Amino acid sequence: MEDVISAIATAPGKGGVAIIRISGYKALSLAEKMFIPVGKTPVCSFEPYRMYPGKIEGEGLTDFGLCVYFKAPASYTGEDIVEFQCHGGESIARAILQRTFLLGARIAKKGEFTKRAFLNGKLSLSSAEGVADMINAESQAEARAGYLLYSEKLTKKVQALQAGLKTSLAKIDVFIDYPEEAADDAEIENNELRSSLRTLSDELIALLKSYDAGKKIKTGVTVAICGKPNTGKSSLLNRLLGYDKAIVSELAGTTRDAVEGAIEIHGKKFNLYDTAGVRECGDRIENIGIERAEAIIRSADLAVFVADIAGGVDEEDARVLEMIKDKPIIKVFNKTDLTCDDTFTDADVHTSAVTGEGITRLKELLYEKGFGASLHEAFLIEERHFEALQRAKRALERAERAVGAETLDLVAIDVKEAWDALGEVTGETATEAIIEEIFSKFCVGK
Ligand code: GDP
Repeated sequence: MEDVISAIATAPGKGGVAIIRISGYKALSLAEKMFIPVGKTPVCSFEPYRMYPGKIEGEGLTDFGLCVYFKAPASYTGEDIVEFQCHGGESIARAILQRTFLLGARIAKKGEFTKRAFLNGKLSLSSAEGVADMINAESQAEARAGYLLYSEKLTKKVQALQAGLKTSLAKIDVFIDYPEEAADDAEIENNELRSSLRTLSDELIALLKSYDAGKKIKTGVTVAICGKPNTGKSSLLNRLLGYDKAIVSELAGTTRDAVEGAIEIHGKKFNLYDTAGVRECGDRIENIGIERAEAIIRSADLAVFVADIAGGVDEEDARVLEMIKDKPIIKVFNKTDLTCDDTFTDADVHTSAVTGEGITRLKELLYEKGFGASLHEAFLIEERHFEALQRAKRALERAERAVGAETLDLVAIDVKEAWDALGEVTGETATEAIIEEIFSKFCVGK
């Protein structure tokens, strides 16, 4: 890539330091024209990976800052990179960026630094997606999962599967080229081939399973707080959030629409929906709220069922319980401050939205039931990867069925298809359109 690209790598707004990043074959000679190091060491004799203090010439202003040179190919993009650290705030950084343009650089497109890193073989496509996930992370868990992706954990697993498929393909090729060899022990060879395809398929299934936790980490666990009106759902939501988001009122039917708020429990995101109290009523608007509530309850990962401890469980409560019977449920008996009666022993937790009693336990239960046993390393967090691996799995299953039943070249087609689908994850077989789509989600400067 001949052209030099530059961009401000730090977020807009006021800050202590801003970073301007320049990448390309001529990055160093460009930097030389706008940086005067202390002690007059020429930029071209800079030792790479060392910070040099000096004057940075911007368009219309000068700043005193730092300059560092990353020598190709041991740099983020795999090309020569120069970074300037100047004083924060947008004006200085923009003036310096402007000067890089006048000296021949062009503005980097969204994610272009990382795209160059991918095209120069510095990272795989899934690793690049991990970078985007880390930058866009809204919870610690998402950032951690992004880092797992970035550090090529998934790539290595996928590459191991691809290597297994290559071995099977090589075997098939030998049998196609030398049919007399295969004819001797056809049944034994077929069994061996089938069993190695089955092993690969099992590994793929295990990987696919980790998407359950991965998806929740990425988008959060969806929790529907449900129950009949006035049991304290909105008050509990406010307690969990730590601020008043939902309207609390003694009037039944106050929460007409689902209110959403997000919290983090042990670094994981939970999207809480305070659903309209489910009850028979004539009010049209309230009924729309109830319908929406029912839709949210259906799609939620987890339901928190709230009953009033003083009222016990009646028919209306039973109707709500019927609606959520297929989901993991946390049964909450609320308003413990109003009664000493704790006869409802089947409650998972007793709470008071007024005093805060039981809220910590409720959060622990949300965490336990939200992730359950599925909380191992989430290798798979991106829908794109999940979809590609599913295609690989289907192709492998077809291949396994075809062994012995079809000609070997047909088996080879399915095995190759599985290999190609896996290659979409690492980037080897990803189309230009997929690559463009991925990098368009990045910010400028990354
Ligand atoms: P929702 O209809 O289920 O969302 O119930 P709200 O949260 O709007 O609460 C209904 C009424 O019960 C309000 O007057 C709240 O102040 C009251 N309330 C909610 N939780 C508690 C609680 O734990 N203790 C007491 N004493 N009152 C509560």
